[in-house]
Amino acid sequence: MPKVVRGHPIHIFYLAVLFIAIFLAIDLAVNLLLTDEQQRIVYSDVIAPVIDFLACAALFIAARQSIVKSRRLGIAWGMIALSALVFALGDMTWAILELGLREPPFPSLADVFYLLNYPFLLTGVLLLPEKPATRGEQIKKVLDAGIVMVAAILVFWNFLLGPLVASNVEYSLFEQGILLAYPVGDLVLLWALLRIIYKRADQQGENDVPAFLLAASIAITIVADCIYTYQALAGTYASGGLLDIAWRVSVLLTGLAGISQMTVLRSSRSATRFPGRLESLIRTVRTITPYFPYVWLIAAYIILMRSSTYPMHMSFLSLSLSVGGIIALVLLRQVITLSENDILNIELQAQTSQLEKANQEMQNEIVERKAVEQQLTHDSLHDAMTGLPNRVLFLDRLGQSIEYCKRRTEFACAVLFVDVDQFKVINDSLGHLIGDQLLISAGRRMRDCLRSSDTVARLGGDEFAILLEVTRNQSSILKVAEKLHEALRLPFKLDGHELHVTASIGIVTNVAGYGQAQEVLRDADIAMYQAKAKGKARFEIFDINMRSHAFSRLQLEQEIRTALENRDFKLYYQPILAMKSNQLVSFEALIRWAHPTRGLLLPGEFLSIAEESGLILPIEKWVLHEACAQLKKWHERYPSLRNVSVNVNISNRLFSQPNFIESVMNTLRTHDLQPEALRLEITENVLISNYVAANEVFTKLRTLGVQLEIDDFGSGYSALGYLQHFPISAIKIDKSFVDEIGKSRKGIELIRAIVSMARELGMETIAEGIETGEQLSELQSVSCNFGQGFLLSKPLDQESAEKILERYGNQPVEINRLDS
Ligand code: C2E
Ligand code: MG
Ligand code: MG
Repeated sequence: MPKVVRGHPIHIFYLAVLFIAIFLAIDLAVNLLLTDEQQRIVYSDVIAPVIDFLACAALFIAARQSIVKSRRLGIAWGMIALSALVFALGDMTWAILELGLREPPFPSLADVFYLLNYPFLLTGVLLLPEKPATRGEQIKKVLDAGIVMVAAILVFWNFLLGPLVASNVEYSLFEQGILLAYPVGDLVLLWALLRIIYKRADQQGENDVPAFLLAASIAITIVADCIYTYQALAGTYASGGLLDIAWRVSVLLTGLAGISQMTVLRSSRSATRFPGRLESLIRTVRTITPYFPYVWLIAAYIILMRSSTYPMHMSFLSLSLSVGGIIALVLLRQVITLSENDILNIELQAQTSQLEKANQEMQNEIVERKAVEQQLTHDSLHDAMTGLPNRVLFLDRLGQSIEYCKRRTEFACAVLFVDVDQFKVINDSLGHLIGDQLLISAGRRMRDCLRSSDTVARLGGDEFAILLEVTRNQSSILKVAEKLHEALRLPFKLDGHELHVTASIGIVTNVAGYGQAQEVLRDADIAMYQAKAKGKARFEIFDINMRSHAFSRLQLEQEIRTALENRDFKLYYQPILAMKSNQLVSFEALIRWAHPTRGLLLPGEFLSIAEESGLILPIEKWVLHEACAQLKKWHERYPSLRNVSVNVNISNRLFSQPNFIESVMNTLRTHDLQPEALRLEITENVLISNYVAANEVFTKLRTLGVQLEIDDFGSGYSALGYLQHFPISAIKIDKSFVDEIGKSRKGIELIRAIVSMARELGMETIAEGIETGEQLSELQSVSCNFGQGFLLSKPLDQESAEKILERYGNQPVEINRLDS
């Protein structure tokens, strides 16, 4: 593990640089000051190994620290350190031999050490890690190095090796070999140098610094070696001269390379800043490296040219062949570069077209997304069924209109709240599909009545709202309302049915006086309720008093709750007589409300509100209990009237309760009544709106013995088909049919048809609302089974009913005398 050094690691590098600078200054000074050659040799021989060992130590430490990072890096620096070590040993041996023998030793053990330095250094440099290169890059690198090497060999041979061989003929072959080994070693160093120059940095640029210092050291060594060989050839070399300083500089640079390597390793986490100039120098060298082969080509060419004036140590043919070889290598390199460029171009084009494609896809996606977004926005603001704006959009537009009308007083906007009167009946009797179609068509008709600047929205259910923009006076609003009425009144032909509907419309004529859209809608709704209360198929303009009506509706709801708690509800009983015998067969239980301030209220005054609020359920349960309890008491008190039963009206809502059958049977059991004593009156709507479920409930109740009657028969929109599928015991012919008797012949004929149809289906008939003798005798003449009406008796309270029971028992009653 590397030791932790205090302070920034770069400081060691600067210290080393400072040391080298001081040393070189002293070295130079000593060289100049020492005039005695012998003294200079002694100084040089002593100082060289010292410097060598210092550099060697730095390199070994660098190697030890590098191995922690990667084995290969450690070994590489180890080899470089070894090369420095053998060089140091060479210098030491040389010094011992020279100082001891007093003459330059050649050949000697020193040469062995010196020559060993080359392979170690090359191995070290080759092992330095490098970023993996592509095949093309590798080939180019080999070619570049090849060109330089061939050219270098050419230069070396002609200027160093050739002359050496020629001049050393007096040396033995062994000695010649050793002499030649040095320039060859320099070629090896050149290889190592090229290797460093063409090396691809494996990480950031600063990792280049150690390698480049090494390269600088190698370059100096090569130059110094060349000069040495030249001087040796000329016999001018003297130990202890300036050339020795150059070698020492080279050694010092190797040591500095080791120190910079340590610096890089220790600062791997924080970026090390080597001197800016050093780094920019490295960058410059890197940018000019691709041109090296050309420089060497030119150099080789110059040699070829000079060979005509100065004889070279090579035949002209070999020289030409070598230069030709270099040219071929350069051309090959060029061809590879070109083809690489082509490939790059193709890749670039492919990438460009891919990018274009991706861009296009992205644009398509954006367009699609926008469309989806628009669809989503549209969906969130429109009613899925009719496609009309929904409540949210309507309120938004209304809000804007309010603001607009406040600013521009010459404009006014009105809101119409439209409710289709018969929608519930149609929906219940003909099914949701027809109901939906009706709403769609009604929406379309309303849309057609208006200008494009007006808004028709569906608020939910059968409720629509219309925003009339730019309506100057009230009469134009009323005209639109009339137009809407007329449009909706035309028959709707849907799925083979011809439907007639009307609408109730509530109008707010000027929205400018409102703060919030919700408030406008609320008031238009109140006005619409008023239109409904006044008999439907009409419009009402909102005025402030209506709010109190609406408020009273709310109040009524609250009062119904209180009435339930205080037991303010009562049952009245209207007798139902057999037509033939005039005997009492049943009582219809009819609810009344003994209101603390308003007196006795009829069901028409509160049942619709009870139904809307859901309070109908507890009310009807109470009715069922009360009616059964009363009948049981009467059965006990008047044993001869055991056959008299009680009719109880059942709303759609109660009938649809999942535990309806159970609660009916429980009530009967509680009061110990036979199921046959109870007749449930149900309207046609119940049967059609949920055919399957209704049929199941009917069948079960009938099997248990409870009688089931269809109330207000003929008043709904139902087809007659259902009659044959339901186990119905009797149908109560609606008062509207009875009313027709005497007015036209058709009236009684229709009843005759109903009676005979019922008989065919095994059902009995009860006529409702008999008010005149004529009606009674006509009904008797068509053999209607039972009758009920004011002519026979009005609904009676408990005491009055009991009086009749006492007076008549099961004797025939006197018409018109029952309730008198
Ligand atoms: P409905 O079941 O058709 O009951 C008959 C209604 O016609 C009663 O009105 C009765 O007073 C009235 N009526 C009977 N004979 C004549 C007549 O000769 N001439 C005229 N003009 N009217 C006659 P009422 O008591 O006002 O009840 C109205 C409706 O309220 C009932 O119609 C029934 O649908 C509903 N209702 C009454 N009590 C209950 C109840 O406990 N539960 C439920 N769900 N509905 C009830
Ligand atoms: Mg009834
Ligand atoms: Mg009825």
